[in-house]
Amino acid sequence: MALRKIVCIEDELLRKKSRPVEKFDEKLHRLLDDMAETMYQANGVGLAAPQVAVLRRVVVMDCGDGLIEMVNPEIVETEGEQDGPEGCLSVPGRRGMVKRPMKVRARFQDRNGEWYEIEAEELLARCIMHETDHLDGRLYVDVMSREIFDDELEEEEEE
Ligand code: ZN
Repeated sequence: MALRKIVCIEDELLRKKSRPVEKFDEKLHRLLDDMAETMYQANGVGLAAPQVAVLRRVVVMDCGDGLIEMVNPEIVETEGEQDGPEGCLSVPGRRGMVKRPMKVRARFQDRNGEWYEIEAEELLARCIMHETDHLDGRLYVDVMSREIFDDELEEEEEE
């Protein structure tokens, strides 16, 4: 495993649409392993392949219940709404309020090409929306309702 460099908001790679994965080979497994290591090292809860300069439809996330790898993820259905703070490893030092669905049903392939379906709520639903957005060149700053400033964050943490 190896750490990969996370590209930042100025990089136009983040604005490109990623292509589906067709080969479930050693190269994909290495990418997934590296992405997980890079995400944990950066204390992130999610990372999409374009963030490490690979334009393929691959994301990893861990919202506290263990590592989830998704290859070629598709949002099947969404329900409800939640409004909450969001950040991104490619947009360091900033956070914003983003409205996302409360529940998300998604299908995806694992590293061997097997299809799965997941129903997610709250933070995991938010994370799935954020990461799949990356695969279509969208960043949370495009959809946030407003920026969150440092003094607000301190107040939140004190609560
Ligand atoms: Zn992000």
